[in-house]
Amino acid sequence: MLELKTPGEIEKMRVTGAFIAELLDDLSGLADVGVNLLDLENRARDLIRARGAVSCYWDYAPSFGRGPFRNVICLSVNDAVLHGLPFDYTLGDGDLLSMDIAVSIDGWVADSARSIIVGTARDEDQRLIESTRIALDAGIAAAQPGNKLGDISAAIGKVATEYGYPVNTEFGGHGLGRTMHEDPHVSNMGRAGRGLTLRPGLTLALEPWFARTTDKIVYDPDGWTIRSADGSRTAHSEHTVAITEDGPVVLTTVD
Ligand code: MG
Ligand code: MG
Repeated sequence: MLELKTPGEIEKMRVTGAFIAELLDDLSGLADVGVNLLDLENRARDLIRARGAVSCYWDYAPSFGRGPFRNVICLSVNDAVLHGLPFDYTLGDGDLLSMDIAVSIDGWVADSARSIIVGTARDEDQRLIESTRIALDAGIAAAQPGNKLGDISAAIGKVATEYGYPVNTEFGGHGLGRTMHEDPHVSNMGRAGRGLTLRPGLTLALEPWFARTTDKIVYDPDGWTIRSADGSRTAHSEHTVAITEDGPVVLTTVD
């Protein structure tokens, strides 16, 4: 079922979104060569506790995970891209780190992800991250009232194709609001002009993620961490977006 949010409810999601943006800024500043993933997890826990926010990940137990999840952030390194389970790993020079987090404040959820490089960046990794950011911007630009859901998917997929990256369609964006995952699913590839009509009050997490040379994924034995099947590097960019009468509004940003 699709639930349209009132402007007041969207404002509450914006409060949550601003906190998430600040948290990701903080962790991006902390992440560096020699920093352990568990340090980032612990920092995220401290910030969430101090803000009185509630993690959407803690105790999350979907059908595919070997759950419940007992962390507050997903940290995925290099060929890992989604649902990365934080573990005792020290970041090395040139590592590509994707951070994904969802929390609720006063019952309203926001969800955002970003990829960064620690230490010396490889050109090909910067290009990969750039492609997800540009695809995200294209998806947001297509999230206009009156457009179709397929317009968002097509806009994201077009950028991937232009960059030469294949697109996996098993995991993509989603509705959200009172919970982390609501209808509809937002594929990162699709046909323009197809699907649900976008209406003011619809809130979506748009999240292009690409692997350099494959659209296939594999799961780690931990049951959570998803990697590119061929070991190629991956990147992920996500924002929570509200569709309003005046167009799309990004909620996971600092005002
Ligand atoms: Mg996310
Ligand atoms: Mg999401």
